[in-house]
Amino acid sequence: MKSESFNPFAMAQAQFDRAADFLNLDSASRELLRNPMREYQFSIPVRMDDGSVKVFRGFRVQHNDSRGPGKGGIRFHPQETIDTVRALSMWMTWKCAVVDIPLGGSKGGVICDPHNLTMREQELICRGWVRQLSRDIGPLIDVPAPDVMTSSQHMLWMLDEYETIHHMKLPGLITGKPVGMGGSLGRTEATGFGVIYTVREALKNLNLRAESTSASVQGFGNVAQYAIRLYNQLGGKVICVSCWDQADQKSYSFKKKDGVDLDALLAITDRFGGIDKTKAKDLGYDVLSGDVWIDQDVDILMPCALENQITADNVGRIKGSVRLIAEGANGPTTPEADKEISSKGIFIIPDFLANAGGVTCSYFEQVQSNMNYYWERDEVLGKLDVRMTSAFIAVNELAAKRKLYMRDAAYFIAVNRVAQACKERGWV
Ligand code: GLU
Repeated sequence: MKSESFNPFAMAQAQFDRAADFLNLDSASRELLRNPMREYQFSIPVRMDDGSVKVFRGFRVQHNDSRGPGKGGIRFHPQETIDTVRALSMWMTWKCAVVDIPLGGSKGGVICDPHNLTMREQELICRGWVRQLSRDIGPLIDVPAPDVMTSSQHMLWMLDEYETIHHMKLPGLITGKPVGMGGSLGRTEATGFGVIYTVREALKNLNLRAESTSASVQGFGNVAQYAIRLYNQLGGKVICVSCWDQADQKSYSFKKKDGVDLDALLAITDRFGGIDKTKAKDLGYDVLSGDVWIDQDVDILMPCALENQITADNVGRIKGSVRLIAEGANGPTTPEADKEISSKGIFIIPDFLANAGGVTCSYFEQVQSNMNYYWERDEVLGKLDVRMTSAFIAVNELAAKRKLYMRDAAYFIAVNRVAQACKERGWV
Protein backbone atom coordinates (compact mmCIF):
# COMPACT_ATOMS: atom_id res chain seq x y z
CA MET A 1 0.00 0.00 0.00
CA LYS A 2 1.16 3.56 -0.70
CA SER A 3 1.79 6.12 2.05
CA GLU A 4 -0.23 8.83 0.20
CA SER A 5 -3.31 9.51 2.34
CA PHE A 6 -6.18 7.53 0.91
CA ASN A 7 -9.72 7.19 2.09
CA PRO A 8 -11.66 4.83 -0.16
CA PHE A 9 -15.01 6.13 1.04
CA ALA A 10 -14.07 9.75 0.23
CA MET A 11 -13.02 8.48 -3.19
CA ALA A 12 -16.29 6.61 -3.73
CA GLN A 13 -18.24 9.71 -2.70
CA ALA A 14 -16.21 11.95 -5.02
CA GLN A 15 -16.92 9.57 -7.91
CA PHE A 16 -20.59 9.56 -7.01
CA ASP A 17 -20.72 13.39 -6.79
CA ARG A 18 -19.39 13.63 -10.34
CA ALA A 19 -22.14 11.34 -11.59
CA ALA A 20 -24.77 13.19 -9.54
CA ASP A 21 -23.70 16.49 -11.11
CA PHE A 22 -23.84 15.04 -14.60
CA LEU A 23 -27.28 13.53 -13.98
CA ASN A 24 -28.46 16.67 -12.26
CA LEU A 25 -29.72 14.66 -9.28
CA ASP A 26 -31.93 16.41 -6.76
CA SER A 27 -30.48 17.07 -3.31
CA ALA A 28 -32.50 14.37 -1.50
CA SER A 29 -31.33 11.67 -3.91
CA ARG A 30 -27.76 12.86 -3.48
CA GLU A 31 -28.01 12.75 0.28
CA LEU A 32 -29.56 9.30 0.20
CA LEU A 33 -27.05 7.77 -2.19
CA ARG A 34 -23.88 9.45 -0.84
CA ASN A 35 -24.11 7.41 2.37
CA PRO A 36 -25.00 3.85 3.28
CA MET A 37 -28.56 3.25 4.46
CA ARG A 38 -27.47 0.93 7.31
CA GLU A 39 -24.25 -0.04 9.05
CA TYR A 40 -23.44 -2.73 11.59
CA GLN A 41 -20.22 -2.82 13.64
CA PHE A 42 -19.67 -5.45 16.28
CA SER A 43 -17.25 -7.60 18.26
CA ILE A 44 -16.67 -11.31 17.69
CA PRO A 45 -15.04 -13.01 20.68
CA VAL A 46 -13.21 -16.18 19.70
CA ARG A 47 -11.64 -18.85 21.93
CA MET A 48 -8.30 -19.37 20.18
CA ASP A 49 -6.53 -22.72 19.90
CA ASP A 50 -4.15 -21.77 22.73
CA GLY A 51 -7.09 -21.23 25.10
CA SER A 52 -6.96 -17.42 25.12
CA VAL A 53 -9.89 -15.28 23.91
CA LYS A 54 -9.34 -12.80 21.10
CA VAL A 55 -11.95 -10.22 20.14
CA PHE A 56 -12.26 -9.48 16.42
CA ARG A 57 -14.05 -6.49 14.93
CA GLY A 58 -16.71 -7.22 12.29
CA PHE A 59 -18.67 -5.03 9.87
CA ARG A 60 -21.62 -5.16 7.48
CA VAL A 61 -22.65 -2.09 5.54
CA GLN A 62 -25.85 -2.01 3.46
CA HIS A 63 -25.50 0.88 1.09
CA ASN A 64 -28.73 0.70 -0.89
CA ASP A 65 -31.43 -1.93 -1.45
CA SER A 66 -33.86 -0.08 -3.71
CA ARG A 67 -33.33 -2.54 -6.58
CA GLY A 68 -33.36 -5.71 -4.46
CA PRO A 69 -31.73 -7.42 -1.47
CA GLY A 70 -28.26 -6.18 -0.59
CA LYS A 71 -25.41 -8.16 -2.14
CA GLY A 72 -21.69 -8.21 -1.59
CA GLY A 73 -18.72 -10.06 -0.25
CA ILE A 74 -17.01 -10.36 3.11
CA ARG A 75 -13.32 -9.58 3.36
CA PHE A 76 -10.93 -10.90 5.98
CA HIS A 77 -8.07 -8.42 6.08
CA PRO A 78 -5.78 -7.03 8.79
CA GLN A 79 -6.17 -3.48 7.42
CA GLU A 80 -9.96 -3.58 7.07
CA THR A 81 -11.70 -0.33 8.13
CA ILE A 82 -15.31 0.81 8.24
CA ASP A 83 -14.55 3.36 5.50
CA THR A 84 -13.21 0.66 3.21
CA VAL A 85 -16.35 -1.40 3.77
CA ARG A 86 -18.53 1.68 3.18
CA ALA A 87 -16.80 2.38 -0.12
CA LEU A 88 -17.03 -1.23 -1.21
CA SER A 89 -20.74 -1.39 -0.34
CA MET A 90 -21.39 1.68 -2.49
CA TRP A 91 -19.41 0.18 -5.37
CA MET A 92 -21.54 -2.99 -5.02
CA THR A 93 -24.69 -0.90 -5.54
CA TRP A 94 -23.31 0.48 -8.80
CA LYS A 95 -21.94 -2.92 -9.82
CA CYS A 96 -25.31 -4.67 -9.54
CA ALA A 97 -26.99 -1.77 -11.30
CA VAL A 98 -24.57 -1.57 -14.23
CA VAL A 99 -25.13 -5.26 -15.08
CA ASP A 100 -28.84 -4.75 -14.36
CA ILE A 101 -29.37 -7.53 -11.81
CA PRO A 102 -32.14 -7.08 -9.22
CA LEU A 103 -29.86 -6.62 -6.20
CA GLY A 104 -28.59 -3.77 -4.06
CA GLY A 105 -25.16 -3.09 -2.61
CA SER A 106 -23.63 -4.34 0.65
CA LYS A 107 -20.22 -5.31 1.92
CA GLY A 108 -18.80 -6.92 5.02
CA GLY A 109 -15.50 -7.50 6.68
CA VAL A 110 -13.58 -8.66 9.68
CA ILE A 111 -10.26 -7.20 10.84
CA CYS A 112 -8.11 -10.32 10.92
CA ASP A 113 -5.30 -12.01 9.08
CA PRO A 114 -6.16 -15.56 8.01
CA HIS A 115 -2.46 -16.23 7.39
CA ASN A 116 -2.10 -16.39 11.19
CA LEU A 117 -5.35 -18.19 12.05
CA THR A 118 -6.11 -21.90 12.11
CA MET A 119 -9.13 -23.19 10.18
CA ARG A 120 -10.95 -23.76 13.47
CA GLU A 121 -10.36 -20.14 14.53
CA GLN A 122 -11.56 -18.92 11.13
CA GLU A 123 -14.67 -21.09 11.46
CA LEU A 124 -15.46 -19.46 14.80
CA ILE A 125 -15.04 -15.98 13.29
CA CYS A 126 -17.46 -16.94 10.48
CA ARG A 127 -20.04 -18.32 12.91
CA GLY A 128 -19.65 -15.31 15.23
CA TRP A 129 -20.12 -12.91 12.30
CA VAL A 130 -23.40 -14.62 11.37
CA ARG A 131 -24.67 -14.71 14.96
CA GLN A 132 -24.24 -10.94 15.17
CA LEU A 133 -26.19 -10.42 11.95
CA SER A 134 -28.70 -13.27 12.00
CA ARG A 135 -31.70 -10.93 11.82
CA ASP A 136 -30.18 -8.47 9.37
CA ILE A 137 -29.04 -10.75 6.56
CA GLY A 138 -31.15 -13.29 4.65
CA PRO A 139 -32.06 -14.50 1.15
CA LEU A 140 -34.57 -11.65 0.83
CA ILE A 141 -32.62 -9.08 2.88
CA ASP A 142 -28.91 -9.11 2.26
CA VAL A 143 -26.86 -11.89 0.68
CA PRO A 144 -23.12 -12.19 1.48
CA ALA A 145 -20.41 -13.80 -0.67
CA PRO A 146 -16.64 -14.43 -0.69
CA ASP A 147 -14.08 -11.71 -1.25
CA VAL A 148 -10.46 -11.06 -0.26
CA MET A 149 -9.18 -14.04 1.80
CA THR A 150 -12.58 -15.72 2.21
CA SER A 151 -13.56 -18.89 0.33
CA SER A 152 -16.40 -21.32 -0.29
CA GLN A 153 -15.51 -23.03 3.00
CA HIS A 154 -16.10 -19.79 4.91
CA MET A 155 -19.43 -19.37 3.12
CA LEU A 156 -20.54 -22.86 4.09
CA TRP A 157 -19.75 -22.31 7.77
CA MET A 158 -21.71 -19.08 7.65
CA LEU A 159 -24.66 -20.78 5.97
CA ASP A 160 -24.59 -23.61 8.49
CA GLU A 161 -24.69 -21.16 11.40
CA TYR A 162 -27.55 -19.21 9.84
CA GLU A 163 -29.59 -22.34 9.08
CA THR A 164 -29.03 -23.61 12.61
CA ILE A 165 -30.32 -20.34 14.08
CA HIS A 166 -33.34 -20.20 11.76
CA HIS A 167 -34.21 -23.93 11.92
CA MET A 168 -34.52 -24.35 8.16
CA LYS A 169 -32.51 -24.82 5.00
CA LEU A 170 -31.97 -21.46 3.33
CA PRO A 171 -29.17 -21.88 0.76
CA GLY A 172 -30.13 -18.57 -0.87
CA LEU A 173 -28.64 -16.81 2.16
CA ILE A 174 -25.15 -16.74 0.78
CA THR A 175 -23.31 -17.30 -2.51
CA GLY A 176 -19.94 -18.70 -3.40
CA LYS A 177 -20.84 -21.95 -1.64
CA PRO A 178 -19.04 -25.17 -2.58
CA VAL A 179 -20.45 -26.91 -5.65
CA GLY A 180 -22.69 -29.75 -4.44
CA MET A 181 -23.58 -27.75 -1.32
CA GLY A 182 -25.70 -25.14 -3.07
CA GLY A 183 -22.87 -23.54 -5.01
CA SER A 184 -23.03 -22.78 -8.73
CA LEU A 185 -20.74 -24.26 -11.30
CA GLY A 186 -18.72 -21.44 -12.81
CA ARG A 187 -18.80 -19.22 -9.70
CA THR A 188 -15.10 -19.73 -8.91
CA GLU A 189 -14.08 -18.67 -12.42
CA ALA A 190 -16.75 -15.99 -12.79
CA THR A 191 -14.98 -12.81 -11.68
CA GLY A 192 -11.77 -13.47 -13.61
CA PHE A 193 -13.61 -14.73 -16.69
CA GLY A 194 -15.91 -11.71 -16.51
CA VAL A 195 -12.90 -9.39 -16.60
CA ILE A 196 -11.77 -11.08 -19.81
CA TYR A 197 -15.23 -11.00 -21.45
CA THR A 198 -15.01 -7.22 -21.13
CA VAL A 199 -11.36 -7.18 -22.23
CA ARG A 200 -12.35 -9.18 -25.34
CA GLU A 201 -15.03 -6.58 -26.20
CA ALA A 202 -12.68 -3.66 -25.50
CA LEU A 203 -10.02 -5.15 -27.77
CA LYS A 204 -12.55 -5.30 -30.63
CA ASN A 205 -13.24 -1.66 -29.98
CA LEU A 206 -9.54 -0.83 -30.11
CA ASN A 207 -9.09 -2.91 -33.26
CA LEU A 208 -6.65 -5.22 -31.52
CA ARG A 209 -6.52 -9.01 -31.70
CA ALA A 210 -5.99 -10.77 -28.39
CA GLU A 211 -3.35 -13.05 -29.97
CA SER A 212 -1.12 -10.10 -30.67
CA THR A 213 -1.39 -8.51 -27.24
CA SER A 214 0.45 -8.92 -23.96
CA ALA A 215 -0.52 -8.08 -20.41
CA SER A 216 0.83 -7.48 -16.94
CA VAL A 217 -1.31 -8.52 -13.99
CA GLN A 218 -1.21 -7.31 -10.40
CA GLY A 219 -2.29 -10.00 -7.94
CA PHE A 220 -2.40 -13.77 -8.16
CA GLY A 221 -5.55 -14.61 -6.23
CA ASN A 222 -8.83 -15.96 -7.54
CA VAL A 223 -9.60 -13.05 -9.89
CA ALA A 224 -6.12 -12.86 -11.45
CA GLN A 225 -5.77 -16.62 -11.87
CA TYR A 226 -8.97 -17.05 -13.86
CA ALA A 227 -8.46 -13.84 -15.82
CA ILE A 228 -5.05 -15.13 -16.93
CA ARG A 229 -6.56 -18.54 -17.79
CA LEU A 230 -9.17 -17.11 -20.16
CA TYR A 231 -6.89 -14.43 -21.59
CA ASN A 232 -4.39 -17.18 -22.45
CA GLN A 233 -7.20 -19.18 -24.09
CA LEU A 234 -7.94 -16.17 -26.29
CA GLY A 235 -4.27 -16.20 -27.31
CA GLY A 236 -3.00 -13.35 -25.12
CA LYS A 237 0.36 -13.53 -23.36
CA VAL A 238 0.87 -12.46 -19.74
CA ILE A 239 4.49 -11.50 -19.20
CA CYS A 240 4.35 -10.35 -15.58
CA VAL A 241 2.32 -11.18 -12.47
CA SER A 242 2.77 -9.88 -8.97
CA CYS A 243 1.75 -11.03 -5.52
CA TRP A 244 2.00 -10.15 -1.86
CA ASP A 245 4.73 -11.95 0.06
CA GLN A 246 3.56 -12.62 3.59
CA ALA A 247 7.00 -13.42 5.03
CA ASP A 248 8.66 -10.27 3.64
CA GLN A 249 5.52 -8.08 4.00
CA LYS A 250 5.94 -6.66 0.51
CA SER A 251 5.02 -7.51 -3.04
CA TYR A 252 7.08 -9.15 -5.74
CA SER A 253 6.68 -9.34 -9.50
CA PHE A 254 7.41 -12.46 -11.50
CA LYS A 255 8.46 -11.86 -15.08
CA LYS A 256 8.91 -14.11 -18.08
CA LYS A 257 9.35 -12.54 -21.52
CA ASP A 258 7.81 -15.49 -23.37
CA GLY A 259 4.77 -15.50 -21.13
CA VAL A 260 4.12 -16.94 -17.69
CA ASP A 261 3.00 -20.56 -17.44
CA LEU A 262 -0.16 -20.37 -15.36
CA ASP A 263 -0.29 -24.01 -14.30
CA ALA A 264 3.41 -24.10 -13.39
CA LEU A 265 2.93 -21.01 -11.22
CA LEU A 266 -0.24 -22.39 -9.63
CA ALA A 267 1.72 -25.47 -8.57
CA ILE A 268 4.01 -23.24 -6.45
CA THR A 269 1.32 -20.88 -5.07
CA ASP A 270 -0.31 -21.00 -1.63
CA ARG A 271 -4.05 -20.64 -1.01
CA PHE A 272 -3.70 -16.85 -0.58
CA GLY A 273 -2.12 -16.40 -4.00
CA GLY A 274 1.43 -16.14 -2.68
CA ILE A 275 4.01 -17.50 -5.18
CA ASP A 276 7.14 -19.26 -3.85
CA LYS A 277 10.04 -17.03 -4.91
CA THR A 278 12.79 -19.65 -4.79
CA LYS A 279 10.83 -22.17 -6.83
CA ALA A 280 9.85 -19.43 -9.31
CA LYS A 281 13.53 -18.56 -9.82
CA ASP A 282 14.23 -22.26 -10.46
CA LEU A 283 11.55 -22.16 -13.15
CA GLY A 284 13.36 -19.29 -14.84
CA TYR A 285 11.33 -16.32 -13.64
CA ASP A 286 12.87 -12.93 -12.93
CA VAL A 287 11.70 -12.15 -9.40
CA LEU A 288 11.66 -8.42 -8.74
CA SER A 289 10.59 -6.65 -5.60
CA GLY A 290 7.98 -3.87 -5.62
CA ASP A 291 5.26 -2.79 -8.00
CA VAL A 292 7.15 -3.30 -11.27
CA TRP A 293 4.04 -4.92 -12.76
CA ILE A 294 2.96 -1.37 -13.59
CA ASP A 295 5.91 -0.34 -15.73
CA GLN A 296 5.88 -3.17 -18.23
CA ASP A 297 5.91 -2.69 -22.00
CA VAL A 298 2.55 -4.35 -22.55
CA ASP A 299 -0.78 -3.56 -24.21
CA ILE A 300 -2.93 -4.34 -21.19
CA LEU A 301 -2.63 -3.76 -17.45
CA MET A 302 -4.89 -5.70 -15.12
CA PRO A 303 -4.83 -4.62 -11.49
CA CYS A 304 -6.50 -7.60 -9.80
CA ALA A 305 -5.47 -7.16 -6.15
CA LEU A 306 -6.66 -4.43 -3.80
CA GLU A 307 -7.76 -0.79 -3.80
CA ASN A 308 -5.32 2.16 -4.01
CA GLN A 309 -2.69 0.59 -6.27
CA ILE A 310 -2.45 2.95 -9.26
CA THR A 311 -1.72 6.25 -7.56
CA ALA A 312 -0.29 9.70 -8.26
CA ASP A 313 3.09 8.21 -7.27
CA ASN A 314 3.26 5.45 -9.87
CA VAL A 315 0.81 6.39 -12.65
CA GLY A 316 3.62 8.20 -14.50
CA ARG A 317 5.42 4.87 -14.84
CA ILE A 318 2.74 3.40 -17.12
CA LYS A 319 4.40 2.81 -20.48
CA GLY A 320 3.24 4.37 -23.75
CA SER A 321 2.50 0.88 -25.09
CA VAL A 322 -0.46 0.45 -22.72
CA ARG A 323 -3.77 0.73 -24.56
CA LEU A 324 -6.13 -0.81 -22.05
CA ILE A 325 -6.53 -1.07 -18.27
CA ALA A 326 -9.02 -3.63 -16.95
CA GLU A 327 -9.70 -3.20 -13.25
CA GLY A 328 -10.27 -6.65 -11.78
CA ALA A 329 -9.89 -5.24 -8.25
CA ASN A 330 -12.30 -2.88 -6.53
CA GLY A 331 -11.04 0.72 -6.43
CA PRO A 332 -7.46 0.11 -7.65
CA THR A 333 -7.06 3.59 -9.17
CA THR A 334 -7.03 6.80 -7.14
CA PRO A 335 -8.85 9.86 -8.58
CA GLU A 336 -5.58 11.68 -9.33
CA ALA A 337 -4.15 8.72 -11.19
CA ASP A 338 -7.47 8.33 -12.97
CA LYS A 339 -7.22 11.87 -14.38
CA GLU A 340 -3.84 11.08 -15.86
CA ILE A 341 -5.03 7.80 -17.37
CA SER A 342 -7.98 9.60 -18.90
CA SER A 343 -5.81 12.41 -20.31
CA LYS A 344 -3.42 9.87 -21.85
CA GLY A 345 -6.37 8.39 -23.72
CA ILE A 346 -5.92 4.90 -22.28
CA PHE A 347 -9.14 2.89 -22.55
CA ILE A 348 -10.28 1.86 -19.08
CA ILE A 349 -12.77 -0.82 -18.08
CA PRO A 350 -13.77 0.50 -14.67
CA ASP A 351 -13.80 -1.81 -11.67
CA PHE A 352 -17.50 -2.15 -11.06
CA LEU A 353 -18.05 -3.09 -14.70
CA ALA A 354 -14.90 -5.19 -15.26
CA ASN A 355 -15.27 -7.29 -12.11
CA ALA A 356 -19.06 -7.60 -12.09
CA GLY A 357 -18.84 -11.22 -13.27
CA GLY A 358 -18.56 -12.44 -9.68
CA VAL A 359 -21.73 -10.87 -8.45
CA THR A 360 -23.57 -11.68 -11.66
CA CYS A 361 -22.76 -15.34 -11.18
CA SER A 362 -23.69 -14.98 -7.50
CA TYR A 363 -27.09 -13.82 -8.69
CA PHE A 364 -27.36 -16.95 -10.84
CA GLU A 365 -26.32 -19.03 -7.82
CA GLN A 366 -29.01 -17.41 -5.70
CA VAL A 367 -31.64 -18.12 -8.33
CA GLN A 368 -30.51 -21.77 -8.51
CA SER A 369 -30.38 -22.11 -4.70
CA ASN A 370 -33.82 -20.59 -4.24
CA MET A 371 -35.41 -23.00 -6.74
CA ASN A 372 -33.14 -25.90 -5.75
CA TYR A 373 -32.36 -26.69 -9.37
CA TYR A 374 -28.81 -26.39 -10.68
CA TRP A 375 -27.59 -25.54 -14.17
CA GLU A 376 -24.68 -26.94 -16.21
CA ARG A 377 -21.40 -24.97 -16.20
CA ASP A 378 -21.77 -23.98 -19.85
CA GLU A 379 -25.23 -22.62 -19.20
CA VAL A 380 -23.94 -20.51 -16.30
CA LEU A 381 -20.93 -19.18 -18.18
CA GLY A 382 -22.98 -18.58 -21.33
CA LYS A 383 -25.47 -16.47 -19.39
CA LEU A 384 -22.59 -14.67 -17.68
CA ASP A 385 -20.98 -13.79 -21.00
CA VAL A 386 -24.28 -12.41 -22.33
CA ARG A 387 -24.77 -10.18 -19.25
CA MET A 388 -21.21 -8.90 -19.14
CA THR A 389 -21.07 -8.27 -22.86
CA SER A 390 -24.33 -6.37 -22.97
CA ALA A 391 -23.34 -4.27 -19.95
CA PHE A 392 -20.02 -3.46 -21.61
CA ILE A 393 -21.73 -2.53 -24.88
CA ALA A 394 -24.24 -0.24 -23.13
CA VAL A 395 -21.46 1.62 -21.27
CA ASN A 396 -19.23 1.78 -24.32
CA GLU A 397 -22.03 3.12 -26.52
CA LEU A 398 -22.86 5.85 -24.04
CA ALA A 399 -19.16 6.73 -23.75
CA ALA A 400 -18.85 6.96 -27.52
CA LYS A 401 -22.08 8.91 -28.02
CA ARG A 402 -21.42 11.50 -25.32
CA LYS A 403 -17.59 11.42 -25.63
CA LEU A 404 -17.20 10.30 -22.03
CA TYR A 405 -14.49 8.52 -20.12
CA MET A 406 -15.60 4.90 -19.61
CA ARG A 407 -15.69 5.25 -15.81
CA ASP A 408 -18.02 8.21 -16.08
CA ALA A 409 -20.29 6.43 -18.55
CA ALA A 410 -20.54 3.41 -16.24
CA TYR A 411 -21.36 5.67 -13.29
CA PHE A 412 -24.05 7.53 -15.20
CA ILE A 413 -25.87 4.35 -16.17
CA ALA A 414 -25.60 2.77 -12.71
CA VAL A 415 -26.42 5.81 -10.59
CA ASN A 416 -29.31 6.70 -12.86
CA ARG A 417 -30.84 3.22 -12.45
CA VAL A 418 -30.54 3.33 -8.66
CA ALA A 419 -31.80 6.92 -8.36
CA GLN A 420 -34.76 5.95 -10.54
CA ALA A 421 -35.57 2.96 -8.31
CA CYS A 422 -35.47 5.16 -5.19
CA LYS A 423 -37.79 7.63 -6.89
CA GLU A 424 -40.25 5.00 -8.07
CA ARG A 425 -40.43 3.60 -4.54
CA GLY A 426 -41.27 7.07 -3.33
CA TRP A 427 -38.18 7.36 -1.13
CA VAL A 428 -37.13 10.69 -2.60
N1 GLU B 1 -16.89 -10.02 -3.74
C1 GLU B 1 -17.29 -9.92 -5.11
C2 GLU B 1 -17.32 -8.48 -5.58
O1 GLU B 1 -16.66 -7.60 -5.05
C3 GLU B 1 -18.57 -10.67 -5.35
C4 GLU B 1 -19.74 -10.22 -4.54
C5 GLU B 1 -20.92 -11.16 -4.61
O2 GLU B 1 -20.84 -12.16 -5.28
O3 GLU B 1 -21.90 -10.85 -3.95
O4 GLU B 1 -17.94 -8.18 -6.54
